[in-house]
Order: sequence, then structure tokens, then C-alpha cells
Amino acid sequence: MSRRDAEPEESRAIAGTVAIVGFPNVGKSTLINRLTQSRAAVVHETPGVTRDRKELLCEWTGTWFRLVDTGGVDAADGGPFGSKIAEQARAAIEEADLVLFVVDARAGITPGDEELAAILRAAKRPTIVLANKIDDPRRDTDAAVFHRLGLGEPWPLSGLHGHGSGDLLDEIVARLPGTGEVAIGQEAIRVAILGRPNVGKSSLLNRLVGRERVIVSDVPGTTRDAIDTVLKRGDTTFVLVDTAGLRRKRKQRQGIEYYSELRALEAAGRADVALVLFDSSEGIVEQDLAVADVARKAGCSTLALLSKWDVSELDIVEAEGHLARRLRQRPPVIAVSAKTGRGVNRVLDKVEELFAKHSGRITTGELNRALGELREARPGPQGERGRRLKLMYGTQVSTRPPRIRIFVNDPGLVTRDYGYWVENELRKCFSLEGVPVSIDFVKSE
Ligand code: GDP
Ligand code: GDP
Repeated sequence: MSRRDAEPEESRAIAGTVAIVGFPNVGKSTLINRLTQSRAAVVHETPGVTRDRKELLCEWTGTWFRLVDTGGVDAADGGPFGSKIAEQARAAIEEADLVLFVVDARAGITPGDEELAAILRAAKRPTIVLANKIDDPRRDTDAAVFHRLGLGEPWPLSGLHGHGSGDLLDEIVARLPGTGEVAIGQEAIRVAILGRPNVGKSSLLNRLVGRERVIVSDVPGTTRDAIDTVLKRGDTTFVLVDTAGLRRKRKQRQGIEYYSELRALEAAGRADVALVLFDSSEGIVEQDLAVADVARKAGCSTLALLSKWDVSELDIVEAEGHLARRLRQRPPVIAVSAKTGRGVNRVLDKVEELFAKHSGRITTGELNRALGELREARPGPQGERGRRLKLMYGTQVSTRPPRIRIFVNDPGLVTRDYGYWVENELRKCFSLEGVPVSIDFVKSE
């Protein structure tokens, strides 16, 4: 069967292939069970596996990798220097990005281990020697003897008791070629949590990740000390961008303001959707509006959250009106309270909805019907010699966020006011509230 068929979804990015090799009875199957039953590991077993070769798709902290198990050979098939084992190991190693070489620390180095080690050394594949069956962490030093295999620092492990297996998954993921970047597929929704100090960002984050239905894990972000939080809810993966400072803050309460403007800019630059918080106990201030502007300019779709609603000074209808007048992207608004939990449920639903718009496509037919209505509704601005702007036709040229090209008779006639009007009408027409729609007016040939 083709490798593609094995993938759970077409768009899933696989960070690499990991092969497990080792002589019979060293504990390969036990280890695989352990690795694939870990809390956050999701496993898709390839149907129609042969007895001697199994492929599993595993996920750990948002990274998917292929695990190839060559464990099904009986000692009897192989003999003490089983040529079949060696042959299989060679095949598995050939296509692996990383090899897990399992040895039995209780048995010490066997001739079979020596033989496999020689194959691995010649293949020059990155390898981790797993000194298995070290059930007692105090005996970790028993692993040292396997240094002699010439494949680097042996890793003490107990597949049976689980000792060392979480760390091992971290190590595997860190050593795969596709990592360093979150390989969770294109469908992951990247979310930045923005707002001036003390608006309630950390509290909201804790509420979001504290919910039972989600699985949370940390993955490295792109900047040096940025850590993203991966959050899964049903089939949807959210990556909360650069959240380490926010999550740590609750514990440490450090005096330094974590969210400098530059940092917020960087986070927004990596996100699809920005949650912009407004402290409803204090009212909406200019600085809040500036943050929302940062989000829009960075190309994020915006969801405005009126935080601390339990102690709000605001009237929701007035606040919505105010934000709609002041913010070009006209964000949807939700009143939330991290304290009581009010509205928090709806946040991720709304993020999904926004993301669908953010990454959606307007067909050329729909767009041109809308442009026809705009032509009817308001004549284009007139230039000096009485020439009028005419909207000819349009098409969406890119997405995430949407970018629309509108062909006109003379782009020089587009006024700022008219440009905003078109943008807003299209926003209304296609329910793009919160989405930063950019429009290029281009001269029709
Ligand atoms: P495989 O042939 O390499 O797949 O090995 P198995 O996973 O079938 O394990 C062989 C035997 O070793 C089984 O009896 C396991 O229960 C045992 N075993 C596997 N891992 C461990 C371990 O970490 N500690 C101990 N004490 N026994 C283990
Ligand atoms: P950050 O600086 O934006 O991360 O804000 P924090 O989450 O640290 O919150 C700042 C202050 O507001 C803390 O004292 C929180 O306890 C308080 N706070 C946060 N959310 C709420 C809320 O929903 N209701 C109330 N009453 N207080 C909140």
C-alpha cells in the first residue's frame, strides 16, 4: 500500500520517519505500546500490516511522525545471527530519519546487538540506543555499558514501567528533520492573545487551557524563547502563539511587563486570529484600539473580548457600537469573564468561525454580483474632468487573509472614503466582520 494512504489526512505534515530495530525480546513491542498510548499521542495504524512490518502514525505535542516497527520476527526465524533481522533492519534504516535501537540492559551486549550496531554505524543514520528494561531509575547507569556500540550516549528506559518515555518522545520529536516548526498541518488555527498589561490575558489563557475537553502541550515557537501552546478541541487544533510568558506569569507574578509591543507584533505576525482584550471594568481606551490596529495590520482576523465582565462598567450594545465605529475591521465582540467563565466557551467557537472566513474564498461569480450591487447603490467618485470611477469586475487573489483585486477604469479616481466604503460593503455582504480584507484597485486593460 502507498505511504500516502497511511496518512490520516492529506494535508498532514509528517515531520519524519522513525524506525525501531532490535533483536527479539528486547522489548520493542512493549515500548511501542508505551509510546503510542501516551496521553497525547494519537495513533493511526496502517491497515493490512504484514506480520513483520508495522507503520504507525504518531503525534506528540503537535508533531506527527511515522513509526516503523520491524518487531514481528521470531527468534526462530532469525537464528542467533538472524539474517532476516539484519535484512529487515537494513530496509527500515534505509528509509528512517531516526533509528531507535533497542537493547536489553539486563542481558548486556549480545552478539546480535553487535551485528545491528555495525549496520547502523555503516548507515550513518541518527540513532538513539535505548537501554531497555531499566525499571529502576536508580540503575540508569547500567545503560553506560552500551557506549561500546559506538552509537552515542545510551538512553536508559523502561518500556514496561514507562520510566523515561515522555522524555524520549520529546527527544524523538526534537531530532526529526521536519521539526523546529510546528508540523500540525495547515488546518491548525494560529491564535494570538493581545492586549495592554492587566487586561486579563493570562487569566483568559488559563481558562481556555484549563478546560477538560482540550489537550494542551507546549511547542517551541520561532523566536528564541517563544513557546506556543497547542490546544486541541475535537478535530480542531489551535496554536496559541507565544504564550509561555502568559502561562508562567500566574505562578511567578514577575514585575517585568512581559508583553512588550514588539513582542505583540511578532505574535500577531504569526497568527491567523487575534483575541484583543478590552478591560470592561475600565472602559475602552486608545491603547486598546491601537492594539486592535496592530492585529489588523499584521493580517489577523480580530475577535474583540470585553474582559472581566463580572465587574464591567460597560453596556454591551454601546461598546459594540463604539468598537464598530473605531475599528476598521469591525470585529465581532464577546463579553467574557475569566473569573466566572462567562463567554469563554464561545471564544473558540468564534475563533473557528472567524478562521473559516479568514481562510475562505469568495467565488468570482459571487464577488461580481456584489460589485454590481455596489455600482447600483452608489456612483463612483468623480474626477476633475467629470470622469467617474467605474467598478468593472473583481476576483479574490489570495486568502488567509482575503485579498481582492478590483478592476476599475481609472485607479486614480479611487478616494479614501470610497475605498473604505467598498471594503465595508463587501465585509457586510460576505459576513467578514473582524476579517482584514485588503482590496487592490487595478486598471482594467
Ligand atoms: P520484542 O520482541 O522486542 O517486541 O519484545 P517484547 O516487547 O515482546 O518484550 C519481550 C519481553 O520483555 C516481554 O516479556 C516483556 O514483558 C519484557 N519487557 C519489555 N520491556 C520491559 C521492561 O522495560 N522491563 C522489564 N522488566 N521487562 C520488559
Ligand atoms: P494580563 O496582564 O493581561 O495577563 O492580565 P491578568 O490575567 O494577569 O489579569 C490582571 C488582573 O485582572 C489580575 O488581578 C486578575 O485577577 C484580574 N482579572 C483577570 N480576569 C478577570 C475577570 O474575569 N474578572 C475579574 N474580576 N478580574 C479578573
